Amino acid sequence: MLSWFDQHGRHTLPWQHDPTPYRVWVSEIMLQQTQVAVVIPYFERFMARFPTVATLAAAPLDAVLAQWTGLGYYARARHLHRTAQLLCAQYQGEFPREIAQVQALPGIGRSTAGAILTFAAGQSHPILDGNVKRVLSRCFALEGWSGRPEVTAQLWALATNLTPLTRTAAYNQALMDLGATLCTRRHPACDRCPLLTLCRAHAQQRQHEFPTSRPRPPLTERTALLLLIRSRCGKIVLHQRPPTGIWGGLWSLPEVALDADPTAWCRTHLDLSPQHVERPPARRHSFTHFKLKIELARLVVATAGIITADRCCWFDVAQLSSIGLPAPVKKIIMADNDALRAAECDSVLFHNQ
Ligand code: SF4
Repeated sequence: MLSWFDQHGRHTLPWQHDPTPYRVWVSEIMLQQTQVAVVIPYFERFMARFPTVATLAAAPLDAVLAQWTGLGYYARARHLHRTAQLLCAQYQGEFPREIAQVQALPGIGRSTAGAILTFAAGQSHPILDGNVKRVLSRCFALEGWSGRPEVTAQLWALATNLTPLTRTAAYNQALMDLGATLCTRRHPACDRCPLLTLCRAHAQQRQHEFPTSRPRPPLTERTALLLLIRSRCGKIVLHQRPPTGIWGGLWSLPEVALDADPTAWCRTHLDLSPQHVERPPARRHSFTHFKLKIELARLVVATAGIITADRCCWFDVAQLSSIGLPAPVKKIIMADNDALRAAECDSVLFHNQ
């Protein structure tokens, strides 16, 4: 594995340059559920905006969520922010060097704690991210979904027994790289794999059966009704969602009950009187566990009057890049903006003819 890594591993990922605990931590959190190519630009922007634990801790949560827009799984960003504040309050902005203390921080599990201390502090700990689970499951033909406690325990035991005491960082990176580049989910390139002669899944020609998939119930579909409320001067009403649940803590279009009358809701809750109401086509968005059908009501009011409703504000479209906004909601707003601009151009052309 080590000689394969020296020749074929990835050595130029942005977080491998100057691997401080902070940079390793942020990269590990971003890499959970997200591919390296997607993470790289987010990581670089995040580091430029929050170069240290202290700058991250001092930033408003909104600014952190804004940098996360599009990466999804926003609890990760909230945990990063909370953990940065804890590190400043309890550890002078440094990471502790005891794995139990690192693992006790919000949003940091055993594998992430192991990665931080291996890559940034030269310690020796096993890791078990998605790529490593796939490689180990195949190599040892380990049956059973890795979410089951007994399978997780077997995987950790294998990972622990195999992790060397020296060159641990190179070994852990090698396992991750092998999973990401050769032992991929759909097309494992076994003929180029350094584990070919050891791999039980390959010997049995059952590579695609490992790791065992999670038993999934069919995806359910939920429906939400969102209000796109615009003033004539182009501002939009946004509502900050509660900290838990989907899009927790992010700004979004106000969500109302499916049977609510959007006009009446605007009058009652925002003291606004819409002059124009329409129902654009619904949108669909897929989450891991369900699909969301987004019904829309578009309402236009004359002026952006003062709103007193809790956690509701007018925003200029230009401000949207500085706040945390779910990607599908941002798409809806930008599409509406584009349609509005196109209609304005048509109207100017019409008057000039
Ligand atoms: S031989 Fe194939 S299935 Fe086995 S670890 Fe290597 S790439 Fe994965």
